[in-house]
Amino acid sequence: MSPLVIHLASGNAHKAAEFQRLAEVAALPLRIVAAVRMPAVVEDTGTFPGNARKKAAALRAVLPPDAWVLADDSGLCVDALGGAPGVESAYYSGPAGDPAANLAKLVEVMRPVPEGRRGAHFVCVLVLLGPGGLERLAEEHCAGTLRREPAGGGGFGYDPLFVPTGFERTYAELDAAEKNKISHRARAFAALARWLKGKSATQGSVV
Ligand code: IMP
Repeated sequence: MSPLVIHLASGNAHKAAEFQRLAEVAALPLRIVAAVRMPAVVEDTGTFPGNARKKAAALRAVLPPDAWVLADDSGLCVDALGGAPGVESAYYSGPAGDPAANLAKLVEVMRPVPEGRRGAHFVCVLVLLGPGGLERLAEEHCAGTLRREPAGGGGFGYDPLFVPTGFERTYAELDAAEKNKISHRARAFAALARWLKGKSATQGSVV
């Protein structure tokens, strides 16, 4: 059977490749393609599900009605900052959305915060749209703590500061396969994968 094509509501080929790997880990015959014409979306709903739904709806509007669409929204919520940067993670240091400046700002803001109060969690919300008005949302977290100084050269964004619970290394010090077992994005994708498999088993083949 040919793989189910899912259009990712992001023009980012790197993200599409990451979801493709996650589909392979889940043994799901999917082909995840980055949107060729992703409409511009202002992520202003104030919530992860709201932003993910908005991105999914924007892409759905320019595709055939029976197309499958996947959208994500994610960010880092820091306990000592009341959940900030949260939905503003990409723009923490300003509208330019510079990842290095975002990381540097978080290092500085967290400098006075003692060990024991440096808890944080990543959030990922995925929204899957399918034919016939189908919508499925998955939200998963990955909890951990923040280092005082960045460590590690892998990953992106806040990875060098975040140590997931049960590890002594930062996300940026884990290899991609390790991160893909425990990350907020991997967990949210696994939840959708379980649902897709269950739906196929009970209602005829989706995948
Ligand atoms: P989005 O999912 O592209 O909206 O990501 C929002 C922002 O959250 C990114 O620009 C990063 O700053 C941060 N972020 C989300 N997921 C991760 C991750 O796995 N590692 C590091 N930073 C992340």
